[in-house]
Amino acid sequence: MQIIDIHIHLSDIESFHQTARELSGVDYSVSGLKNEFDRNDVILGIGMGVEETDSGTFPDFRASNPMRLDLVPAGTMPGFLMECIGINPVRLASPEAAAELERIERRLASSDVAGIKLYAGYYHYYVTDKIYGPVYEMANQFDLPVVIHTGDTYSMNGLLKYSHPLTVDELAYRHRDVRFMICHLGDPWVMDAAEVVAKNPNVYADLSGLVVGNRRKFERFMSEPLFMDHFRRALVYADHYEKMLFGTDWPLAPVDVYIDFVRRLIPEKHHEDVFYRNAFQVFPRIGQRIKSFEMENPPSGRG
Ligand SMILES: [Zn+2]
Repeated sequence: MQIIDIHIHLSDIESFHQTARELSGVDYSVSGLKNEFDRNDVILGIGMGVEETDSGTFPDFRASNPMRLDLVPAGTMPGFLMECIGINPVRLASPEAAAELERIERRLASSDVAGIKLYAGYYHYYVTDKIYGPVYEMANQFDLPVVIHTGDTYSMNGLLKYSHPLTVDELAYRHRDVRFMICHLGDPWVMDAAEVVAKNPNVYADLSGLVVGNRRKFERFMSEPLFMDHFRRALVYADHYEKMLFGTDWPLAPVDVYIDFVRRLIPEKHHEDVFYRNAFQVFPRIGQRIKSFEMENPPSGRG
C-alpha cells in the first residue's frame, strides 16, 4: 500500500535532534528520512516548517517568516518532500510585518509548498486573533490548507489555552472558504477535536505525534487498552474516516513503528483513505507533485 506522510519535520531544532538521539533512535537527516520512506512504501512527505535562531530556543519568537525545513538547503527540496511554511505571528506584529507577509506570499507560489503551518500554543495567540487575518486570506487565494498545531505542546513554554482544538471551531465558522487541519487530533482533547471535525465540513485532523519514542515505547502503549481506546473512542464518535490523515511527526517516532500503530487504530476498510487518499483532498498540490516526481524517477523494476 502506498502511503503519504503528511506531518514530518526536517528543521534544525535542538529538541528534534535530541529526540532522535535519545528517544526514537532515527537518523534525523534527509537521507535518513528517505531510507525510512523507501522501506515502508511512503511516496511523499509533508514537512512542517519551523526554525530557531539559536539552539534550544524553539518556540522562537525571533524566527523570521516564513519558517522553513532548514535541514534542506534552500532551493533543493527533493521530489519526495513538500513543505507547509511555518508562521511566526510575533513578527507579524512587528515593524517588519509587511515585508514578512510579502515573503510568505512569494513562497506560497512555489510548487514545493503544500500548505501553511500555525504553531498555536507555542506562540501565544489564539488562531482567531486578527494577526492571522492576512494568512487566512492568502490560504484562500492560493487554495492551500492551514495546518494547526493542537493539544499538548512539545515545550513547557507553550500555553495550552491557545492550542485547544475547540479554538478551531470558531475559526472554521468564520472562514468556510479555507480548509483547516487539526494536528495530533488535539491530543489529549481528542473528543473535542472529533466534534470539531464532525461539525465543520472544512476541518480535518491528522493522527501524528500521538506517541513519541522507539518501538519498545510503542509496544508498551499499544498493549494498554485504555491508551488505544482513548483515540478509538474519538475516531468512532467522529465517524469521518475520510477526514483523518496519516502522519508520523518524524523524527519523534520511526516511520515503520508509527504505521503499525495507526493500522491498529483505524479499521482496515479505511486504511486506503487514511494512509493515502484523504491527503489529496486537503493538499491539492500533492497530485501534481507526485506526477512530476514519477516522471523524473520512473518506477523501473519496482518489486
Ligand atoms: Zn509536528
